[in-house]
Amino acid sequence: MAAKIISGTEVAAQIREELKIEVAAMKEKHGVIPGLVTILVGENPASVSYVTAKQKAAHEIGFYSIQDSQPAEISEADLLKLVDKYNKDPKIHGILVQLPVPKHIDEKKILNAIDPDKDVDGFHPVNVGRLMIGGKEAKFLPCTPAGIQELIVRSGFETSGAEVVVVGRSNIVGKPIAMIMVQKAQGANSTVTIVHTRTKNLADHCKRADILIVAAGVAGLVKPEWIKPGSCVIDVGVNRVGEKKSEKTGKMIPILRGDVDFDKAKEIAGAITPVPGGVGPMTITMLMKNTVKSAKLAAGIS
Ligand code: NAP
Repeated sequence: MAAKIISGTEVAAQIREELKIEVAAMKEKHGVIPGLVTILVGENPASVSYVTAKQKAAHEIGFYSIQDSQPAEISEADLLKLVDKYNKDPKIHGILVQLPVPKHIDEKKILNAIDPDKDVDGFHPVNVGRLMIGGKEAKFLPCTPAGIQELIVRSGFETSGAEVVVVGRSNIVGKPIAMIMVQKAQGANSTVTIVHTRTKNLADHCKRADILIVAAGVAGLVKPEWIKPGSCVIDVGVNRVGEKKSEKTGKMIPILRGDVDFDKAKEIAGAITPVPGGVGPMTITMLMKNTVKSAKLAAGIS
């Protein structure tokens, strides 16, 4: 039987509707409006489009949102001052510095300067530590891994006791999703294995996964015969494998593929995410969710 296709586009739209309702209620009952600032340094076209998408989502959900664009020449000291200004601004609950920043600026220094209680990206070492401790300590989960967990849970897959295999050990996807799934918590309680380039018998690990999460960035790495029949496959990989002419605009656009051979895998898995339209649309949505959480925590709303 063909797998259920887990549409991140649909789940993300559903969560955004839920957030709209929540934000409207926060405004009405408590006079609280979640505030998000996106800081963009320079004019990298990809960064401009990410920031625009984040601002659009914030606006649609009903946030107070600021797009703060700075010239590529801004000094590290001035950028730190800017971050500090928003750290102190009570109307702002989430600060996002769009990466990459120009080479003369130390990216780590900037990210570490964000108040951990406004770090809605979840990359500050304090929030990484909080995630590790888990429970109520965990404040802001990093957005892509948080989106992956939502997709698994909302697709109705049992995570408790499930064998979860994560391909990839990056700080932004592999390690945090493994840490989320191993927590003693609803939507987690899994037995987790992380595999990487030095792993022996990659295929054998994948074959026993009830939930297989692939974040390697290698097109078609996971072969159909590595997939356990009926399992849940989350393909995080986004790989450009060529170009095609857009039917809408006539412009050349990239052809994107995941790390899993989707067409064959969908005949074996119980559920699978497509690329594009799977994990991708969830990331910005989870950023919005973190900002709402931050505003509630700041206002003492449960
Ligand atoms: P990354 O930092 O390059 O890490 C890739 C990981 O995969 C590394 O741990 C690497 O192992 C492992 N790996 C690579 N090739 C492998 C192989 N042949 N066998 C086993 N393990 C292998 O990548 P990332 O930032 O985590 O991103 C992974 C993919 O997810 C990329 O395609 C990226 O574009 C995509 N992504 C999508 C979203 C989204 O949709 N919103 C967000 C983030 C990332 P080693 O550590 O041993 O080198």
